[in-house]
Amino acid sequence: MRIPIIAGNWKMNMTIKEGIEFIGKIKPSVKGTDVEVLICAPYVMLKDLVEAAKGSNVKIGAENMHYEEKGAFTGEISPLMLKEIDVDYVILGHSERRQYYNETDETVNKKLVKALEFKISPIVCVGETLDQREGDLTKDVCKVQIEGAFNNINQDDVEKIVIAYEPIWAIGTGKTATSEEANEVIMYIRNVIKGLYDEETSEKVRIQYGGSVKPSNVEEIMNESDIDGALVGGASLKADSFVELVNF
Ligand code: PGA
Repeated sequence: MRIPIIAGNWKMNMTIKEGIEFIGKIKPSVKGTDVEVLICAPYVMLKDLVEAAKGSNVKIGAENMHYEEKGAFTGEISPLMLKEIDVDYVILGHSERRQYYNETDETVNKKLVKALEFKISPIVCVGETLDQREGDLTKDVCKVQIEGAFNNINQDDVEKIVIAYEPIWAIGTGKTATSEEANEVIMYIRNVIKGLYDEETSEKVRIQYGGSVKPSNVEEIMNESDIDGALVGGASLKADSFVELVNF
């Protein structure tokens, strides 16, 4: 059984003070849920958020990391540093990182290898642009991104990885893929994993949908056969709305 995972991705939107207050607010309301609850936030507040979430079922993740442990990489944060402050998850290859910071399938793969080595649970993001969708390339693009990210990843590690399918044209735009469309691509991604490993492995990996998920559409999305959660930007910034997502 795949445990659903509802994850907030705050991006560059919260102050430390706001972040700590948010965690305090949601803790009692998400206590009894069967869903895995995760907040991914900027580096500077991770230590405080881990502290604020202590003793609760709220997990904390980073939005990125470097693939080296140490070295001359001015401004970067390593898996060693994230591990030191007990971060549970890390988002890798978000489309904004790919688009603005030159992340490639190769760097995503290197980061994935390191995250697994440091036992930080990775969320690997894939998804197509609007042009690619209109050119009927959605599945090809996702296949290339998955194959690139999973290069040399051992079969035993696959179930530790969460995949997030996020069509780029649906991120922050208010446009969502219909839940059927999202499910179809997610089923296809599961099939790519089956091709790389085997059916049992592909049935274990959790695949989220992301792109304008909000309280009004989360239930429909989560009711699809192969969608195991949501990665949520805008609607994760208000405690009330995030709690509604978790309690879909
Ligand atoms: P959104 O962002 O929910 O604001 O569309 C999703 C994401 O980028 O992970």
